[in-house]
Order: sequence, then C-alpha cells, then structure tokens
Amino acid sequence: MSNQPYASTASPHLSADCEQCFGLCCVALPYGKSSDFAFDKASGTPCPNLRTDNRCGIHTQLRQKGFKGCTVYDCFGAGQKLSQVTYAGKDWRDHPESAKEMFDCLPALRQLHELLSYMKEMMMRPETSSLHSAFGELYEEIERLSNLEPAALLRLDIADYRSTVNQLLVQASEMVRAHVPSTSQGQGKSKKSKNVPEVTFWCQLKRADLRGASFRGL
Ligand code: SF4
Repeated sequence: MSNQPYASTASPHLSADCEQCFGLCCVALPYGKSSDFAFDKASGTPCPNLRTDNRCGIHTQLRQKGFKGCTVYDCFGAGQKLSQVTYAGKDWRDHPESAKEMFDCLPALRQLHELLSYMKEMMMRPETSSLHSAFGELYEEIERLSNLEPAALLRLDIADYRSTVNQLLVQASEMVRAHVPSTSQGQGKSKKSKNVPEVTFWCQLKRADLRGASFRGL
C-alpha cells in the first residue's frame, strides 16, 4: 500500500459557498459570548454584522473583532444547498413564512453533508478499497435524504444515520492508520493508557510520535 501523502479531494458541493447562500449560519445558529464570539445571539436572530446583501460586514476583521468562531465554522455546503436547491432561491427575508423552517433545516442538513464529506474522503483512499462499495451505497442513501423537502428533512432521525455511517468510518480509520510508516510507535492503537494520569498523558503529547494514533473517546 502506498505511503504517498494524501491529498484531500473535497467535493465542491460539500464545501461552503457563501456567495450562493442567504447568510443562513449568521441567522439560524445561536452563539454565546466567549473567546469565539463577542456577544450573545439567539437562534433565528440575524447577526448584526450580516448585511442585507447576505455578506458579512466585518469579514476581513472577524478574528480581531472577537468572532474567531465564524472563521472555523464549516457548513459542508449545506447553506447554499438549502438556499438554492431546497428553497429554490427564495430568501428568508422575502419569505418570512419559511424563515423558521429554513433555519431549523440548517443543522439537520449540515449533519448529512458532514457525513457525505467524510464518506467521500474515505471513498478516495486506496487503503479503504474493500469498503468503497459499502460507502457508495450509504453515500447514495444520505445524498437522497439531503434532497428531501424541508418537512421530511426535519423528521429524520439523523443520530441513527450518524451511527450507521460511524461504524463504517471506524473500520476505515483502522485501515488508514494501519498503513502509516512502520517507524510509528504503537501504530493503530490508542495513545491513551488507562494507567496514565490525564495530566501526564497530555504533557507527554509534545514528545510523542502520534502517527497512526487513534484519539477516539479522548
Ligand atoms: S451557512 Fe454555509 S454557505 Fe451559508 S453563509 Fe454560513 S458558511 Fe457560508
């Protein structure tokens, strides 16, 4: 198996395209005053920095102004899909009757797109070739769900789908980690021993060779 560095091949429809979106995350999602956000904002309330053209008024100064959280948020392309596909270009400003439903759909569709993104990545990896067909079937099913109309989307038990996809992702992760360079210590194993105190464990990370390590559950 190749040890070539892996180049991510994220699909454009699974990456945020804010120019095609009605600024949905800036309205739908709540945030609290913290190191990530400068003040509190409730779900469904437009961020005061969101302009009427759906652009951010402080986009180039987000970190300096205390909005580090916005710079790391990723909707995995759910925002533009809701705006342009699910709601066919009908902005919540012009259609206030749909606004709440549209905002409620964002976290749901984001989760489905997140799963699609992970599966897409695993289907591009040669190490997981024996799982590609299983991933392909699940990908098709989740993609179909992501195109449901809003009411049906909101009725989905997404935790259930997450759990199904997760089982495959865990197997895929083991396969990928099994092919890290052989100099890695304890490749494929969790680096956390039950007998190592938490503080000591984290202090040891600085010197540790973490290639192939699993941090699940830490
Ligand atoms: S929901 Fe996604 S596409 Fe829309 S503004 Fe936020 S990050 Fe951009």
